[in-house]
Amino acid sequence: METYAFGARVEAIKRRAHGQWSGILRALGVDEKILNRRNQPCPLCGGTDRFQYTDKYGEGNYHCRGCGPGGGFKLLQGIQGWDFGTILTRVEQCVGGISAAVSRPGEPSPDRMKKLAKRIWNEAQPVRQGDEVDRYLRNRGLSLSNFPRVLRFHPALGYYEKDNAGKSLKIAEYPAMLACVQAAEGDAVTLHRTYLNDGHKALAISAKKVLSAGINGAAVRLFEATDTLAIAEGIETALAVHVRTGKPVWAAISAGNMERLWLPEIVQHVCIYADNDADNQYDGQACAFALARRLKKAEKKAGARHVEVYVPRHAGSDWADVWRLHLENDRQLA
Ligand SMILES: [Zn+2]
Repeated sequence: METYAFGARVEAIKRRAHGQWSGILRALGVDEKILNRRNQPCPLCGGTDRFQYTDKYGEGNYHCRGCGPGGGFKLLQGIQGWDFGTILTRVEQCVGGISAAVSRPGEPSPDRMKKLAKRIWNEAQPVRQGDEVDRYLRNRGLSLSNFPRVLRFHPALGYYEKDNAGKSLKIAEYPAMLACVQAAEGDAVTLHRTYLNDGHKALAISAKKVLSAGINGAAVRLFEATDTLAIAEGIETALAVHVRTGKPVWAAISAGNMERLWLPEIVQHVCIYADNDADNQYDGQACAFALARRLKKAEKKAGARHVEVYVPRHAGSDWADVWRLHLENDRQLA
């Protein structure tokens, strides 16, 4: 009976400690350097670079080529020399404290996201000729003399990925193009980030990131809407539409968000520049036409709006691709 109770207590502590181990180890006096995830001497058996703390499974995991793999309990035992009963009690005290303080967040609150977005925005600066954002846009065939104020250049933006325990880890820093995403009332709901490397998108798996999933009809308002407004999905495509047509343009960021897009009432002429996703699942076209349909249906209530949808001819292309090819062809002919 006593054994059972002890086992249950250990299980309960393990459950509560899961995903919290880096904090627990720190709180119980393990040196920050041991937890820095780099190869180094093993705190248990020595050597030069045989040890690495990974927290791979959220159990304070480490691996050592000398004494083998282990987790937070074993690490504490080896470093502090405590017996298992002591360790259990100390960790138990810790997780009591941690879970009371943090309450295990799944996603950060919208309020925290807004604060984070604001901080990042303030670290960035307006785009200027010759900076990394300008270089990137030029490489995409987009030469602008004036840059929209909703775009900014961040010289070194942290790139994060979630580990197995769901904790965000900084993988690298890249220069980045930031785009302010504005909701109907004009307040910034989030930032769209394009990580850059040497004038191109960084070779990360997803070079584009939005700080939150719920952008719900918000847009990157690259140019002020007049009675005419062009809409495109991506920021680069939207800029290409502006360069080519001179129309004010907003970027919807994603196909899914396009059909929900909020448009000001003064806009009477809407030109939707769809992506051709015929090579995939037709998302680009479907969402562009869904927006067109929504606007035409709403027409009965509001005034008559003129809505046009333009789709590039070739599967897998957007309007930025089309016009870049034109330019290249023109150059070859010249
Ligand atoms: Zn070792």
